Amino acid sequence: MSTDIVHLDQFREENIALNIFNAIRREDSNTVSASEIFAALEANGVDRRDRRIRKTVERLSAYESGERLDFNAFHEALSKENATLIHRSLSGDLIIPDFAEFRHRMINIFEYCREFTGGEVAGYIPQLARVDPELYALGVCSVDGQQFSHGDDDETYCVQSTCKPINYAIALDLVGQQTVHSHVGREPSGRSFNELTLNGKGLPHNPMINAGAIMCASLIKPHQPLADRFDYIMSVWRALAGGRKTGFDNSVYLSEKATADRNFALAYFMRENNAFPPDTNIIDTLDFYFQCCSITLDARQMAVIAASLANGGVCPLTNRRVFQTETVKNCLSLMYSCGMYDFSGEYAFTVGIPAKSGVSGALMMVVPGVCGVALWSPRLDALGNSVRGVEFSRRLVDVFAFHTYANMTDDYRLIDPRQSEIERHADASVHLCAAAARGDLGEIRRLSANGVDPGMADYDGRTALHLAACEGRASVVAYLLDRCSQIMPRDRWGNTPLDDARREGREEIVAIMERRLAQDHAQAEATDPAQNAGELG
Ligand code: GLN
Repeated sequence: MSTDIVHLDQFREENIALNIFNAIRREDSNTVSASEIFAALEANGVDRRDRRIRKTVERLSAYESGERLDFNAFHEALSKENATLIHRSLSGDLIIPDFAEFRHRMINIFEYCREFTGGEVAGYIPQLARVDPELYALGVCSVDGQQFSHGDDDETYCVQSTCKPINYAIALDLVGQQTVHSHVGREPSGRSFNELTLNGKGLPHNPMINAGAIMCASLIKPHQPLADRFDYIMSVWRALAGGRKTGFDNSVYLSEKATADRNFALAYFMRENNAFPPDTNIIDTLDFYFQCCSITLDARQMAVIAASLANGGVCPLTNRRVFQTETVKNCLSLMYSCGMYDFSGEYAFTVGIPAKSGVSGALMMVVPGVCGVALWSPRLDALGNSVRGVEFSRRLVDVFAFHTYANMTDDYRLIDPRQSEIERHADASVHLCAAAARGDLGEIRRLSANGVDPGMADYDGRTALHLAACEGRASVVAYLLDRCSQIMPRDRWGNTPLDDARREGREEIVAIMERRLAQDHAQAEATDPAQNAGELG
């Protein structure tokens, strides 16, 4: 029986290899080249630097000088342990099935956002002020480890505040949620990231702003020498990044430390309020915090780190668990509510994914269960978030159904940012009217938060109000009446939403609309009785 199993396995393995071989080879050829194999893998997001296919890459490199592989050579080159990954990638069985299309759309959004050159590089840390503002990079990694990067993806940058969720997660794993949250809150502060303020209990508001991040730093192996503490967090960053070592920018560290009055003030303020654990050395804590902010990486690495969070704490490139699932759940919750400083509420509403920004222009986005995305562009808006990062995020959720609550509206997500205005208009009005007809107020809100005018009409002059009136969607009608500048638009047949409601026998809607028209009339009379009287007369 055991030999049967061996035979069956061998047969399956050979079959898989044959499928892959056939998928790669050109129709007119019985052989494949190493570069064709690499190109096919790369098109599916499996990079030749991916350690999971290291053995195959080693074997194939012998063929790179030009010799082609027949099926037997090809089968030999595929090692058993990664044939499944390679097969899944080539048969569209990974989390992002059409990776080439995905990548194309991502790059479109990225290039579209290049034009946003507003904002300023962070000036308060001298070394950061010297960074070239034009630098711009994108990295993406899926929970199956499909990767690509684009733009200045070879440049490294400082993680700055994107170290905050990582330190928070490290602290949670080390000392547990209860202890961590007896020293730091979990409410958005509604203030800027370094504001001198604590919550009602005298604790920092949350781990995603400076005070809270300094607090989390104090909880990471406080009794060990600083060198060991630093080695420890570097080992975590490395594990999250799939084994590629992250770097350290000494001049940013020194520059930051030399200009850190506000962070010192925050630490002393917290000590005055007894917020730290007993025996905390705040000078060491601050030093450690500055070191964490000065860790460097490239967009590719940051995307893998974000993907490890998207994958519940397991790095997709190594399958190694770095954080407990509960820790990641807590961390993503706070990134969602507090990760973008005092833009967090708006970001959660319009973009709807956990993210964290840093003053270096770094932005780490996590699409749980799908992928991690890293964007880097140093110019910041007034709130300290990367200008291009925010623009990119907005378009990302226009194109893909990544918003946490987007599950009901998947069909909307195919708007290409390069579409012409006319196409965009047509798309938006179709989605708006469809949402109104099915009574989906949430979608209408989301569309209008994304800049779609709720009063827009389609080719026939039909508006969301017409559709909601026809279908008797009272809450949508009430919402639209408050937001549309024209509440009785006429469609191409001359009908208003009220005409539609009457025709369809929607009494509730007729009542709402008549009430609203009467109110408007009364108001108009009150503000300008003479003119109204004149008009009526
Ligand atoms: N190192 C920076 C500071 O402490 C981090 C702030 C940030 O990225 N928002 O001021």
